[in-house]
Amino acid sequence: MKQMKSPFNLDRQNNEIDSKIVVALERLSGAFRVLLWNESKQNALSPIQIQILIFLLFHPGEKCKVSYLAQEFNMTKPTISDSVKSLLEKDLVKKYEDPLDIRSYTIGLTGAGKQAAMKSADFASAIEEPLNLISGEQKEAMLAGLLKIILELNRAGVITIQRMCFTCSNYSVVNGNHYCKLLQARLANNELRVDCKEHEPKVEL
Ligand code: SF4
Repeated sequence: MKQMKSPFNLDRQNNEIDSKIVVALERLSGAFRVLLWNESKQNALSPIQIQILIFLLFHPGEKCKVSYLAQEFNMTKPTISDSVKSLLEKDLVKKYEDPLDIRSYTIGLTGAGKQAAMKSADFASAIEEPLNLISGEQKEAMLAGLLKIILELNRAGVITIQRMCFTCSNYSVVNGNHYCKLLQARLANNELRVDCKEHEPKVEL
């Protein structure tokens, strides 16, 4: 019988490292789901509400809009609006209207929202801990591989928003090294950023 091409087909998986990596990534994404779900149960908030609070805690105001959040979390605008409405009712976020456009607003944390976000921000620490057991070299190889996968998924339209070096207009390769024009510095492999505050999207011609 012809082998099914699924990475979840155990015969294929046992013979191909690519399939094993796909399945391992799926396990990790399951771990994120479980940890986020536990956090949401403890706080009587939905997983997406927790994610919104954490995003607002660490990102500048211009990104804290319903439309941006919808792209960030691959959800529809009405779904994000519902979550924001619920966070407003719980007094965890507040709206800042744009004086130039009354239909537009950004969302910010209230004092209580900031506390809730800070409490939940390390929900993934159980995934961070085992990294202590991995060497610096292995981590660099992992990061390089993951960035490449994210970049290709971004190009394929599976992951929409990206704020990593490889999609940034400030990124270039100089003499074979990663280089950031904004920081005016060479970036070592372990300095490449996944979510950079200064990221400026590349304009594709
Ligand atoms: S601005 Fe940030 S994302 Fe862009 S190249 Fe520099 S470090 Fe990387």
